[in-house]
Amino acid sequence: MKISFVVPIYNEEKGFRDFYTKMLLPELEKVKYDYELILVDDGSSDGSLKIIQDLAEKDKRIKVLRFSRNFGKEIALTAGIREAIGNAVLTMDADGQQPPKLIHEFIQKWEEGGEIVIGRRGKFEKHGFIAKLGSKCFYKILRMMGVKDTVPGSTDFRIIDRCVVDEYNKLTEHGRITRGLMDWMGFKKVYIDYTYGNRLAGRPSYNFRKLFQLAINSFVSLSSTPLVLFGWIGAFITVASLILGIFVIIEEFIMADPLQLRWTGTTCLSIFITFLIGLVLISQSITALYISHIHAEAQGRPLYIVDHKNSRNLNEGKTKKS
Ligand code: UDP
Ligand code: MG
Repeated sequence: MKISFVVPIYNEEKGFRDFYTKMLLPELEKVKYDYELILVDDGSSDGSLKIIQDLAEKDKRIKVLRFSRNFGKEIALTAGIREAIGNAVLTMDADGQQPPKLIHEFIQKWEEGGEIVIGRRGKFEKHGFIAKLGSKCFYKILRMMGVKDTVPGSTDFRIIDRCVVDEYNKLTEHGRITRGLMDWMGFKKVYIDYTYGNRLAGRPSYNFRKLFQLAINSFVSLSSTPLVLFGWIGAFITVASLILGIFVIIEEFIMADPLQLRWTGTTCLSIFITFLIGLVLISQSITALYISHIHAEAQGRPLYIVDHKNSRNLNEGKTKKS
């Protein structure tokens, strides 16, 4: 049995050596399984690479995967998971905010049968007002869009079983958010609550622009509600202006204005144009739906994922995964 630890690193020269020697290594030594530590350098421009290469020189259990430039944490995690050969893969940040002390609890929950064990951030932590508000809005909007199974506060501090890793490695989409994909994949999920610590050193590299990009990626990849929304608005406008238009025709032209409303030509024209705008919105939304189908095809996700552990007597001979 072997456990793979995957840590994405981007410009962490200030804190990484301390993080590894003081926090991570002591815990890794206590793990009763064989392990490998995959450090994914996401194109750092500081001295991080040198530090992790030195570590790998001294300890063959450490593997260094270096990107040619910065591709972002989601891609770094994916690369690390693809490289991993362990029976389970544990991912964590390099900045000490996700306490390595907890890895034993993660491993224990995995041994007890959790296929995806997810670290969940505590509710009452002190972190910035803007960050809190942003994350609240993010989950609210996701929920409104009909993506119900994302659990607020889930982080990338996570252990996944080999059966999940194999399925995850089959996914080919580019604009990915690992958390969302894990939710989509199903499997047995277990949560561990923890408190997000402070950074050991350096500054978080997720600035507003990157977080915003991440949020947009999640919305687009997880839901097609925004596309339909404008269709509904268009439908409302069309129906409303149609009713108003019919009313005007009957009242003004057929019954000769008994209510003395004195509709002018301009009002009639406005009602007609509003009606047309509604139609345009509807047709736009229909086009968008076709695009969303193309998008789904282009993502190329598997049609379904088989739970090999609980399936029996399949022909593929793949049912023995554990
Ligand atoms: N990270 C990365 N690529 C990036 C940005 C961040 O690999 O483009 C790594 C970073 O080194 C750290 C983890 O992802 O190990 C989390 O990043 P950060 O601490 O900036 O984010 P936060 O703690 O705010 O989630
Ligand atoms: Mg961090």
